[in-house]
Amino acid sequence: MSKDNLIVLAVDDDLINLKLLKAMLIKSGKVQEVIEARNGSDAIGQLKTRNDIDLILLDIIMPVMGGIEMLKVVRADDNLRQLPIIVLTTDETKKNDALEFGANGFLMKPIRNDDLMKKMATVIV
Ligand SMILES: [Mg+2]
Repeated sequence: MSKDNLIVLAVDDDLINLKLLKAMLIKSGKVQEVIEARNGSDAIGQLKTRNDIDLILLDIIMPVMGGIEMLKVVRADDNLRQLPIIVLTTDETKKNDALEFGANGFLMKPIRNDDLMKKMATVIV
């Protein structure tokens, strides 16, 4: 990763997952800020208020708006379609859908620090 001051939008309905992810990202030294969202709709609201987000880490199974639905919305939006998105999920059967609908990467939970950093390096230019 060329940047070491990334702003990451973390989207997960599980608060404990969000806190663990945030701690892992901040500890990496590559991330300056983690914005939290609890579902896809919440995340899209955050994206509309900020244009400085570098990366989205996206859960799939969430109430209100799940990850696949959010991918469709983001990839259909001219202002958002280039944003790197890594899907993080416990459900391996969602991998094809995630990639088909525009995810740049896919990782199985529980997330390991090394795997996350490697995957982030592949999607952040
Ligand atoms: Mg979930």
